[in-house]
Amino acid sequence: PPTTNEAPPPLSGKKRRIAVLTSGGDSPGMNGAVRAVVRMAIHYGCEAYCVYEGYDGLVQGVRWPLSKEAFFGLVLLHTIEHVLSVSRIKEAHWEDVRGFLSEGGTLIGTARCMPFMERPGRLTAAKHLIIKGIDALVVVGGDGSLTGADKFRAEWPSLLEELVQKKELTPEEVKPFQHLNIVGLVGSIDNDLSMTDATIGCYSSLARICEAVDSVDTTATSHQRAFVIEVMGRHCGWLALMAGVSTGADFIFIPESPPGEDWQDEMCTIIKKHRSMGKRKTIVIVAEGAHDQQLNPIKPSAVKDLLTKKAGLDTRVTTLGHVQRGGTPAAYDRMLATLQGVEAVKAVLDATPDTPSPVICMIENKIVRRPLLEAVAQTKEVAKAIDAKNFDKAMELRDAEFHEYYRAYQITTATEQPELMLPEDKRMRIGLIHVGAPAGGMNAATRAAVAYCLARGHTPVALHNGFPGLIRHHSDKPLGSVRDISWLEAESWASKGGSEIGTNRGLPSEDLETIASVFTTYKIQGLFVVGGFEAFTAVSELRKGREHYKAFKIPMVVLPATISNNVPGTEYSIGSDTCLNALITYCDACRQSASASRRRVFVIETQGGESGYIATIAGLSIGALAVYTPEDGVNLKMLDRDIDHLRDVFLQDKGQNRAGKIILVNEKASKTYTVQIIADMIAEAGKGKFESRHGVPGHFQQGTTPSPMDRVRAVRFAVKSLQHLEQFAGMSKSEIDDDDQSCVVIGIKGAKVLFSSMEKVEKKETDWKLRRPKDEFWMGLKDVVDTLSGRPKVVKHA
Ligand code: ATP
Repeated sequence: PPTTNEAPPPLSGKKRRIAVLTSGGDSPGMNGAVRAVVRMAIHYGCEAYCVYEGYDGLVQGVRWPLSKEAFFGLVLLHTIEHVLSVSRIKEAHWEDVRGFLSEGGTLIGTARCMPFMERPGRLTAAKHLIIKGIDALVVVGGDGSLTGADKFRAEWPSLLEELVQKKELTPEEVKPFQHLNIVGLVGSIDNDLSMTDATIGCYSSLARICEAVDSVDTTATSHQRAFVIEVMGRHCGWLALMAGVSTGADFIFIPESPPGEDWQDEMCTIIKKHRSMGKRKTIVIVAEGAHDQQLNPIKPSAVKDLLTKKAGLDTRVTTLGHVQRGGTPAAYDRMLATLQGVEAVKAVLDATPDTPSPVICMIENKIVRRPLLEAVAQTKEVAKAIDAKNFDKAMELRDAEFHEYYRAYQITTATEQPELMLPEDKRMRIGLIHVGAPAGGMNAATRAAVAYCLARGHTPVALHNGFPGLIRHHSDKPLGSVRDISWLEAESWASKGGSEIGTNRGLPSEDLETIASVFTTYKIQGLFVVGGFEAFTAVSELRKGREHYKAFKIPMVVLPATISNNVPGTEYSIGSDTCLNALITYCDACRQSASASRRRVFVIETQGGESGYIATIAGLSIGALAVYTPEDGVNLKMLDRDIDHLRDVFLQDKGQNRAGKIILVNEKASKTYTVQIIADMIAEAGKGKFESRHGVPGHFQQGTTPSPMDRVRAVRFAVKSLQHLEQFAGMSKSEIDDDDQSCVVIGIKGAKVLFSSMEKVEKKETDWKLRRPKDEFWMGLKDVVDTLSGRPKVVKHA
């Protein structure tokens, strides 16, 4: 989860009217954006409007203004409410967007609107906006929708002139509307807009695809079959690439980087090689817009024929189609949509007449504003480059993240790449170890590390069952805890939860000497540690142990992997996204169970240790009424105020509160106020008005299958970590010891992926007592949760 621009926007004297619409293809998470825009606008004292059915709603407006006679005529026929409901541009109140966050698609409708493509359509749209007094428009849609938005803004002054000239509106009527603020939010499953790493909906869609591929996987393995799976993406291969990375597909076809001239042979060679190494299944992923170097389409049926005839495989085709667009939004999309919606309202309020229209983007973990015009133009350049067969340029125009994923996919998939092999003296024996509790993505990281090592000529050495495994190994009864690991062994781990090489919380300090001796015996020259706070602590101990043990003077990288996301040196740990998805599934189910009885408050305990991260971000993703964290603690005043708030909410309830309310409580937020006690207090206070239940999802939060985000980031970070380690090949022990980059933690900080020196992070950024970073980047997001749930200001623990 990203940091947002913290500064509150300046509020001008005039009460603004901000409208939001969704346009183009629907994508999961659009509703979250609408909810955030509406509530944030109201929070800032503006009036919020929803435009129904995309640009169609703007063009059709109300069929409004009706003449007085027509209006009363209609009222005679229907109720006033019915007449008002004819309007496609309606004021939205706080309660109107209740329950939006967890709904897929778009509840305010979307459309492909042909009239808006032409000036007369846009002229009518402008007139309707002015009649409604709206001077700011937030458009949630794909590149087409944003192109339309930009055109609309550029034409706005001339549209006003034309409206006056045609006497549709008077100069006085148009005068207050000289500037239309437009803000774009990218809602698209394709993730095809330049300048942003993620669009609202892309990770939900990827989750749908991965579920399907994982399911196909089991039957493919059983029958030793090949499956060719077509996924969406006409000009953008993001979904196909990410699906390939997260499922460990054997071959992918994406429009930006078509395969070489003899791709038929290339594909069959790779696939036959995988089979000869013992793989029982084959998965090929084809983007909808895949083509060869000459732009001839590559269709799944052609790939199937090749695999059948040339590779002799029993092959089937699966076309996923619209399944990919549907379903409930993933945790990340709910959070992204919420934070971008909040930022969109801030951008409207910050805008001056000279501010170019922004589109709200996400770079790694940071919400940023980028010029809409440039983002759209750059996006179109990609399609142009593809049409011109300039594929290098097409890849260049995609963001750096796309590039890295593509490289990571290639390195970890194709088996024979002689050009990647390092000379003998640069090859290393690299130890791979898991520490702490299992977290989604640990296996994907290890699989990628193994594949990378083998591609470069290194030897991957699995150190089983954490540091205690090593200590036991060297005692009287060796348990085979140290083993070279083969490609085939790790091959099937891409989507596996848990820890295949075994993990343990034990620390090296239990017996540094034995561990040093194991490292020496097995000639470990580099160490890749995957795990949470214990992994961080373990590497810190090894680093300090360098003083006494030469064996530890080797390069080491920690890849943070924990559901708690409490490792210093990063804002994101693999496994945390899987946990958030498990939690929102649990909360959605609780909520839904309340829909029969209504007026029920669920008090749910989350994990997270001394860090309130999981509770807060889950709160943001489900629209929790309140979140209790260890950072703030829980006190009576806080509870009292929240119970009062609940009373107000249920008092004003006119039937909208069908689903239950949720309060999330981190496991360490309070020793006294457990979830059961809080639920009892609420039930007692709500007698006759509302009831309460508590729930403890416990280890359910570790999830089953890792989320695609955890899988793809695990692969990318593992490859980066190994690249970091191999830089130290051939260096002397003292050179390694002197280099503070020889012992690092890899992580995301704001808009960057960085290796931070362990020594610095240990000293400056770590709260050792509370086992979390001193400065928790997400703390500001608690206010967003509270604001969007309408919670009164929190009283902090004394
Ligand atoms: P998706 O990613 O699902 O394709 P999109 O926003 O790109 O979403 P489009 O069908 O391209 O979907 O565009 C949606 C609507 O935006 C169009 O129906 C039209 O009303 C408007 N629009 C698109 N392009 C333009 C344009 N060049 N000028 C004016 N309006 C446009």
